[in-house]
Amino acid sequence: MTRITYIYNFLMLLVLHNAITLCHETIYDVSRLSPVTVEQVVTPSSVSELQSIIKSTKKPISFAGGRFSQGGQIACPNGIVIDTTKLNAIVSCNIDQKIITVQPGTRWSQIQEYIDPYNLSVHVMQSYNNFTVGGSLSVNVHGRDPKGSLIKTVESIKILLADGSIVQASREQHTDLFYAALGGYGLLGAIVEVTLKLTDNINIERYTHSMSISEYVSYFFTQIYNNEQVIFHNANVYPNEFKKVSVITWYKTENNVTISQRLQQPDFYIKEMIAEQLLRRISPFKHIRSLLEPKKISKKLVTYRNYEMSYSTKSLEPIMRWPSTSILQEYFVPLHALEHFLQQYKTIIQKYNVNVLNLSIRYVPQETESILNYAPQDSFALVAYINVFRSTEQYIEKKWTRDIINAVLSVGGTYYLPYHLYATKQQFQHAYPKLQEFLNIKQKYDPNNTFTNSLHQKYMVP
Ligand SMILES: Cc1cc2nc3c(=O)[nH]c(=O)nc-3n(C[C@H](O)[C@H](O)[C@H](O)COP(=O)(O)OP(=O)(O)OC[C@H]3O[C@@H](n4cnc5c(N)ncnc54)[C@H](O)[C@@H]3O)c2cc1C
Repeated sequence: MTRITYIYNFLMLLVLHNAITLCHETIYDVSRLSPVTVEQVVTPSSVSELQSIIKSTKKPISFAGGRFSQGGQIACPNGIVIDTTKLNAIVSCNIDQKIITVQPGTRWSQIQEYIDPYNLSVHVMQSYNNFTVGGSLSVNVHGRDPKGSLIKTVESIKILLADGSIVQASREQHTDLFYAALGGYGLLGAIVEVTLKLTDNINIERYTHSMSISEYVSYFFTQIYNNEQVIFHNANVYPNEFKKVSVITWYKTENNVTISQRLQQPDFYIKEMIAEQLLRRISPFKHIRSLLEPKKISKKLVTYRNYEMSYSTKSLEPIMRWPSTSILQEYFVPLHALEHFLQQYKTIIQKYNVNVLNLSIRYVPQETESILNYAPQDSFALVAYINVFRSTEQYIEKKWTRDIINAVLSVGGTYYLPYHLYATKQQFQHAYPKLQEFLNIKQKYDPNNTFTNSLHQKYMVP
């Protein structure tokens, strides 16, 4: 070994040593219900450092971004977790073409701050802006924009594979990898760069209506479906009756903004947090919310698109996550089956006395590119925010969740994977029938199953 190689190797070891932040750490998801004890958490600050870690370890590897997924999707027992949050550079941005290239640890909030002065906006993301782009791509998230899933705005990704090579994947090259990695929960490799299409930061105006569920379905088809003026749309269904909905639609407008602020400031959520604790969590108050909220949101409001897209998850965070905590679940229901599914949902919720804090309906158009796609047809996404007591087994939660999953599968729908792994293996296979195709692609790019996590271990390993 030459002296230079020796010094280089020594320096690389030093860098790796410094990157290893903790040994035998217990990784918690945001709900604190699914702890996983891992061997190491490593936080590389460059792609070459990440490359060296992947090449040098024999341990199973998982990736973590913002750590908002809720069932061990970011970790595997005794494995290594690679925390991507320091890989957060904005690589380039072409303002004229409305295209941005970023590293995976970049958060949506960071992109918004960067592009807002150019009057550009992220096209598809979650309803909150503190998730990482890498975590969002690997889940193939969606928001309130009727465009649907994030993959529709992705031009290409660069992905670091198990053999240490970096390849570009898109609709033109390594297409199998592209369609598997988007929504692939980090099981194909580390996404190290992504190029996304942006849109204009236009003025948007809010319109709200209250109606019954059956009125909502016809309202949706006449007013919202395929309406290009609609920028965001969702409907809140009030528990525990699940009869009345508050519909909130944001349309394109030429009107002047009534809120001049361009992006929300992260720390002004005190009121929301108190309302959240009182009006949503405690049963008698839930009824009051269904009376107060429609009035509150009926106020005329014109904002910038970016303003409405810059909420933080802090606005939802409970004051304490013990003895109870909040979890999310999401079900994708074919458009024609909404009323029928909601009827079944309500019966199950009432039977098990589940404390549903909020149920929000969004529209997700068909998406058939990603292999583990959750909206194989135009669907309503029902996002439930639920309060549960903390327990290790979560026996009762598994029971009612499985009943709900059976109900959604019976109407031809699916459920979302970034949340707790309560589904049975059979339910998973039913909801994601292209699993074998996904596993074949994984076998091609990651033959030794270097990349794994609890989702993979529970549902994809024989
Ligand atoms: C309060 C709240 C609100 C939410 N709202 C929405 C919503 O509106 N719409 C929606 O679709 N979802 C929503 N979600 C779910 C959320 O989008 C996912 O949990 C998402 O993964 C969070 O991003 P993250 O940065 O925390 O990813 P993480 O949870 O850290 O990671 C998610 C997955 O991505 C993988 N991953 C992360 N980085 C990389 C990388 N660089 N390369 C390869 N794999 C990687 C991880 O291994 C993991 O499997 C919400 C969740 C919460 C808690």
